[in-house]
Amino acid sequence: MSGEFDLIRKYFRTATPSRGDVITGIGDDCALLRVPPAQELAVSMDTLVCGRHFAEDVDPESLGHKALAVNLSDLAAMGAEPAWVTLGLTLPRVDETWLSDFMRGFSALAARHQVQLIGGDTTRGPLSVTIQAHGLVPRGDALFRGGAGAGDLVYVSGTLGDAGLALRAQQGLCLPAKVFEAVKQRLDRPVPRVGLGLALRAYASAAIDLSDGLGRDLGHICEQSGLGITLLLERLPLSDAVRDYVQATDDWSLPLSSGDDYELAFTLPAGRQAGFESLARQFDVAVTRVGVVGPGKRVRAIHPDGHDIDQATAGYDHFNV
Ligand code: ADP
Ligand code: MG
Repeated sequence: MSGEFDLIRKYFRTATPSRGDVITGIGDDCALLRVPPAQELAVSMDTLVCGRHFAEDVDPESLGHKALAVNLSDLAAMGAEPAWVTLGLTLPRVDETWLSDFMRGFSALAARHQVQLIGGDTTRGPLSVTIQAHGLVPRGDALFRGGAGAGDLVYVSGTLGDAGLALRAQQGLCLPAKVFEAVKQRLDRPVPRVGLGLALRAYASAAIDLSDGLGRDLGHICEQSGLGITLLLERLPLSDAVRDYVQATDDWSLPLSSGDDYELAFTLPAGRQAGFESLARQFDVAVTRVGVVGPGKRVRAIHPDGHDIDQATAGYDHFNV
């Protein structure tokens, strides 16, 4: 048994960059970390369960990437800079090929963001992956869901609904092979918007990452800010594939309520619009203004022909599906 775990630890100890703020990483009873005096610690956890979040035959390298990416996305939404992660792995068996592929996806993304794997737990059981991510944010600079003000502008990064389109294709919707490959990449390899999140500290009044659908996730900003949001659907940033789908069906549920986008949605005071948009040209992802914060307590989505879309805040809910 211990041989098995020695083997597993071999994959973790050198998997990620070593950081100067890690006093002790993998190998003791706890990791010991140095939080700089003027910074706050942001902590987030996400679990991916086989059969719920991914299929049994999932590509392990993509899974290693995605499990880390969704956690870094939460840090980005808080304006936190990723620093450390712990990894809870439950594996049905020790499969070295699977594990080294998984860790290749995990390590490549960790290296890109200078994140160190500082501990975890490995158990036997039905396949699931839990990651806890720890980030640093200068005292007082974190972004909250509850900070939006009346008149603030609402933005999103990237394009919306691509991952949802890939899911529908996996469930039988017919797509050209090239289009499917492109959207499947969005589903399997989400890019956490870490740089954008850091830049938003100086501009945004509120932020959230999009995991459960735009309408639903903006609903959290409404609820916690005590205000409403009006979205103009014609402004939503769509890839050609999603735009074609929406034009053919007039079904807006992909960009509005399908999950797994892992883009950022955020609000900023109108007075900061010009400064923000000129800075935004340097970002590695486009940002698009899609709506405005106002009175009310919910998300209103306005169809291009002017009518309100029902169910704007429908989205994914594990306990109500
Ligand atoms: P303990 O029994 O004291 O909890 P473990 O045998 O679970 O110790 O783990 C020993 C060391 O290996 C610890 O530092 C732990 O954080 C690390 N570790 C175990 N599993 C993982 C994993 N999946 N990823 C990273 N580190 C791990
Ligand atoms: Mg343990």
